[in-house]
This record gives sequence, C-alpha cells and structure tokens, in this order.
Amino acid sequence: MSEKIPNLPIAKPLLGEPEAEAAKRAIMSGWVTQGPEVAAFEQEFGTYVGAKYACAVSNCTTALHLALLAVGVQPGDEVITVSHSYIATANSIRYCGAIPVFVDIEPQTYNINPMLIEDVISDRTRAILIVHQMGMPCDLKAILDIAHRYELPVIEDAACAIGSEILWSGEWEKIGKPHGDIACFSFHPRKVITTGDGGMLTTNNPEWDKQFRLWRQHGMSVPDTVRHGAKQVIFESYPMLGYNYRMTDIQAAVGREQLKRLPEIVERRRYLAQQYQQLLADVPDLKLPTEPGWVKSNWQSYCVRLPEKCNQRQVMQLMLDAGIATRRGIMCSHREPAYEHETWSCGSEREACHCGTGTCDRLNESEQAQNDTILLPLFDQITEQEQDYIVEVLKAAC
Ligand SMILES: *Cc1c(COP(=O)(O)O)cnc(C)c1O
Repeated sequence: MSEKIPNLPIAKPLLGEPEAEAAKRAIMSGWVTQGPEVAAFEQEFGTYVGAKYACAVSNCTTALHLALLAVGVQPGDEVITVSHSYIATANSIRYCGAIPVFVDIEPQTYNINPMLIEDVISDRTRAILIVHQMGMPCDLKAILDIAHRYELPVIEDAACAIGSEILWSGEWEKIGKPHGDIACFSFHPRKVITTGDGGMLTTNNPEWDKQFRLWRQHGMSVPDTVRHGAKQVIFESYPMLGYNYRMTDIQAAVGREQLKRLPEIVERRRYLAQQYQQLLADVPDLKLPTEPGWVKSNWQSYCVRLPEKCNQRQVMQLMLDAGIATRRGIMCSHREPAYEHETWSCGSEREACHCGTGTCDRLNESEQAQNDTILLPLFDQITEQEQDYIVEVLKAAC
C-alpha cells in the first residue's frame, strides 16, 4: 500500500472572499478600467511604503520601463544592473534602446555586489537599476554612495520586495519609500501579494509622478475620469508618445484587500523562513540564506545552495517525485538566447572574459548561483507537518 503523495506547490497566493467581493464591487459599479479603485489603491500603497507618490501600472515590467524613461535613459545609453534576475529587469533596459551592463552578485545575498559597480561606470552610463532579489534588500547605502558621487539616478526593482524593510538612520523603513529615486513593484501571483497582474511605481518626485500618469494612459492630456464627470465638453490632446500601461479597477480593488493582509502575510513568511533556518541548520554543506542585520526580508523566495556533490536537477526531481515542487535558483539573463550578440555588456572587452558563449568570467557568482541553488515551497497556507516533510525529503535527497 503506497502512502498518499502530497502535492506541494512552490507558491500559492492568499486569496479569498474579501478579494472576490472587492472584484464584484468594482464590476457592479460599472467602472472597470483605471478609475476610483486605482486611485484609492495608489493612496493606500503610498502610505504603506512611506512614499509621497504611488502610480499603478499594468505590471512591474512596464513600471521599470517608465522609471528608466523618467530618469532619461535613451537609445545607446548604458544602464548598470544584474544579469542574475528575472529577465524582465534587463529587458526593460532594452525597451529603451539602451544596453544592460551586468555586474556580478554577492554569493551570500544574491544581490548586486556594490564593490563592482564603480569599475563599469563609463561616459555612457545613464542609471543604475538594482534588484532586491527574492525580497532581500540590497546594500542600498553603499550603492547610493557611489551613485551620488557619479550623479547617477538609482531605480529599485522591488518586484519581490513588498513589505521588506531596511534600517535607515536608526529607523526601520519599508522598501519603496523609495531610498533610490524610483521603486517598482509587481503584483504577479508569484510575488507576496497579487492582483493577477499589476505593478506600482513609487517616487518622491512630483514631476516624475505626473509623467508616469501621462505615459501609462497614451500620453492623454485629460484623463477619461475627468471628462466623465465634467459638466462642460472637454477635448483631450496627446502631447507625447504614450503607452497603454494601465491597471484596471477590478485589479486595484483586489489589491486593496491584499494590502490589508500584507502585514500578516509578511509576518507568517518570516516565521516560516525562520523554521527552515532551524530545521535545515544541521544539513552538512547546505548553505542557507543570510539576512544582514540591517535588513528584514519578506522572504518572497526561500533559496538554498546545495552541497557541491549534489546535482541540482536530480535533487529537484527527487523532491518532485515526493510531491514537492521546487524551482531552480534565479536565472541569468546573459545565458538566454535572447541575450546573444551585442545586446549586453559586462564592462570589459568581450574576448577578455569569454563572453557570448553562455558564460562570462566576470559573472561567475551569478552563474554559480543559478547552477547550485533551489527554491523551496514557502506560502501562507503551508503547515508545520508539510514543512517538516519538505526538510526530510531535502535531507534525504542531499
Ligand atoms: C517578477 C519580476 C519582474 C517582473 O514583474 P511583472 O509584474 O511580472 O512584470 C521584474 N523583476 C523582478 C526581479 C521580478 O522578480
């Protein structure tokens, strides 16, 4: 007689009646595109992270695109970032016709190594796009120090970092305040809260916020919401090239409910990550994630580095056979076919570091992390027994 094999996914959004009711509320109101729910969600989100302005958009990728445009990134410019991220990070730079310049990561935090940034700054560098990978805040102080010295704007890809915190002048502050110039968030179901798809830009610069609002709505001078309520006929105009990057009111209504749950979700994720840290502490050569004392992650993903003797695919298959879904660690954009040819740089002469063959000597830590790490299931509804089971299976697989 075989035991029942569980079916544990890598992640699972926490959605229920409140979200369903909120979606219904938006639908029954008769206004479903960007409108009052989006405005309220922006207000509440801005308050939560402590930003002066929050602008909702269709997803984090479009948020990154607008953030780069706002700080003036143009065709031919260079933007310093990491390869070791979801591919949308680097793609957003290419949407501007600019060139991603990839910097390697720190092996402990999987975030950009600030010590390597200065080395790749050139005359063409226009911005620095950092990623708070898997919700773990970057070394923002070190990065901002360099950026200020070279007068470069800093954009934070905070797709995964809603609810993460950083110790700033003795106070715990939310990622997205923002500490750089603009922060971009995602509400994809793989992130900590979700609206199906969705994104948010936060900034303290009123000009940029105004610009985002024009760009996301086709560059339209008078929004439909204003014309709808007007007692006089108003004709809109289109003074610039815009985009359709709007969030709908149905999504925003769901987002407002998700935002209410966020503190509880983050607390639960921190507890579950703590459990993993304890339960896995005695596995020989397994490297657990490190959280520097001056940050608090939201643990969007829980990433372990396998012992050297382990085969990543084999471990993942053994776990899948036992009913546990895992994922390979974060990808490297420069190893994808979409990044062949002259679409990126590592700041050195190509021949000198063997770039362009799916590997780059300068991005060794990024490649190692992709090869050696796996993500374990972590979501609100997971039980203690399930976590024990995951640990047991992983131990056996190692
Ligand atoms: C998920 C993710 C994105 C893309 O977010 P979307 O909302 O799906 O566009 C960008 N950057 C990082 C680091 C991500 O994890």
